[in-house]
Amino acid sequence: MLEDKDRIFQNLYGDNGIDVESSKLRGDWVNTKEICLKGKNWIIDEIKSSELRGRGGAGFPTGLKWSFAPKEISKPHYLVINADESEPGTCKDRDILRFEPQKLIEGCLIASYAVGAHKCYIYIRGEYFNEGQNLQKSIDEAYEKKLIGKNACGTGWDLDVYIHYGAGAYICGEETALLESIEGNKGQPRLKPPFPALIGLYGCPTIVNNVETIAVVPTILRRGAKWFSSLGNPKNTGTKIFCISGNVNRPCNVEEEMGVTLKELIEKHAGGVIGGWENLKAVIPGGSSMPMLPKETCDTIKMDFDSLIQQKSGLGTAGIIVINKDQDIIACMARIARFYKHESCGQCTPCREGSGWMWRMLERMKNNEASREEIEMLEEVTKQIEGHTICAFGEGSSWPVQGLLRHFKKEIIKRNNFNPLVNTNKNIPYLVDQHLLDKENA
Ligand code: SF4
Repeated sequence: MLEDKDRIFQNLYGDNGIDVESSKLRGDWVNTKEICLKGKNWIIDEIKSSELRGRGGAGFPTGLKWSFAPKEISKPHYLVINADESEPGTCKDRDILRFEPQKLIEGCLIASYAVGAHKCYIYIRGEYFNEGQNLQKSIDEAYEKKLIGKNACGTGWDLDVYIHYGAGAYICGEETALLESIEGNKGQPRLKPPFPALIGLYGCPTIVNNVETIAVVPTILRRGAKWFSSLGNPKNTGTKIFCISGNVNRPCNVEEEMGVTLKELIEKHAGGVIGGWENLKAVIPGGSSMPMLPKETCDTIKMDFDSLIQQKSGLGTAGIIVINKDQDIIACMARIARFYKHESCGQCTPCREGSGWMWRMLERMKNNEASREEIEMLEEVTKQIEGHTICAFGEGSSWPVQGLLRHFKKEIIKRNNFNPLVNTNKNIPYLVDQHLLDKENA
């Protein structure tokens, strides 16, 4: 269990003030000038050796991303903070915006300095209106105290920080859709390459980072990369805010060490599964776009990037959604599929059409109306979406369905009461895989 002395977010529950003076008592804005004066290369190298990986979902190494910003500054550089947080089951950035805003603003200064940006945009979802208003007050206070603005914090670096509100579209959390949205365009992802580090906002080099990623940077630089990397496991270092929701007794956000077991998070911090651990059916470990894990895996799984990949899932945003045996797991997945169908931006045919197909098939499976071959067909649709789209939404919408089929296929078969040897739809070549059927019936 993470010791209090290693906790980065000392005010995660809003017990203390969020003004600059209160934040300074928690260690914010201490030695910021000295940190910056150590130079851009030192900052980037230190973040690289801390092995900090992005906290927004993809887990890309932060220091490496910063090093992609061109060294020669021929155009303006931008830092963009992704505070869109639209992944269902995720609400960690919200608490940072509400209760630790100065950590974020200080991180903006250090990161902007490191990547050569004089302007930083914080893209915040429209539903976080109150959080945005409060954040604006914190930004104004930081300007008044000369922590940002001209000669920010006495570093000689000028930095302006702007808030930009989104309108609540899930896809605007995708970094290039987010940039389109700031530019005033429809929030639709761009083809990559070119990557935003070279051609981003207004065609200029842009580094896009998640709120939590930037908010932990000042503490890492103050306490040292070695301290951060001593927490967690190699390549999965540091602490992480986990959001625990669903069928638990006390839904919460909690900062814990990377690699903590899922069971400890649920039992110790969230008051356990409703109905007890044995009543657990499955857990979605990283926000709704990650494949679910069945109870047997949840008994021992560690919560870090690599352990979850080994189990064919992912840490994602660390939004843990607990599903107990009282729930209809097919209905849960049908609901998630409906969400993705609604949020597809529509640019790619496999995503636009496939997300609707998945939802409709899952609805039929939920209602005992599906034909036997639809199970293989559903799996095939997920494969035709995955890897065939402009952005990772394709994977995000198909992986949860794959997780359901991987672990609960038997339940779908039982619900729909098929005769497995009858092909009800003669137009579809039906693959009777006896080995698979035997496995399913076992
Ligand atoms: Fe839009 Fe989906 Fe294509 Fe992403 S994958 S660009 S959300 S249609």
